[in-house]
Amino acid sequence: MEHSDCIFCKITKKEIPAEIVWEDERFMAFKDITPKAPIHVLIVPKRHIPTLRDVSAEDAAMMSEVVAVANLLMSESHLGQKDYRLIVNCGKGVGQAVFHIHFHLLAGKMFRF
Ligand code: 5GP
Ligand code: ZN
Repeated sequence: MEHSDCIFCKITKKEIPAEIVWEDERFMAFKDITPKAPIHVLIVPKRHIPTLRDVSAEDAAMMSEVVAVANLLMSESHLGQKDYRLIVNCGKGVGQAVFHIHFHLLAGKMFRF
């Protein structure tokens, strides 16, 4: 389902600009507009899924592909770093602000919980 008022649908359809670092038919990866680490890229499935809670068995391929995309981007030829953190916020209560599922790919610093 397309969501005409969704900012990440607009970015993935190139209706509004973003610093795209990689894309294929199913995913786009672009730089976060307010980076929280030296590397902060959002890996976004082009299909509109609001939250991790909405992921079903049909999305099993997407969930494994996103790890492959992260590994591809973190290979030396892409972003120049090897180690990374991959996180998802699910719901307003933990800070999800954009309700189109996205995976924060962070690297270039030591993180502490
Ligand atoms: P959330 O809080 O939903 O997990 O993360 C949303 C992320 O999207 C935030 O880190 C925020 O900086 C980023 N963001 C919000 N709007 C835009 C935008 O228009 N362009 C880009 N590149 N990033 C955005
Ligand atoms: Zn969307």
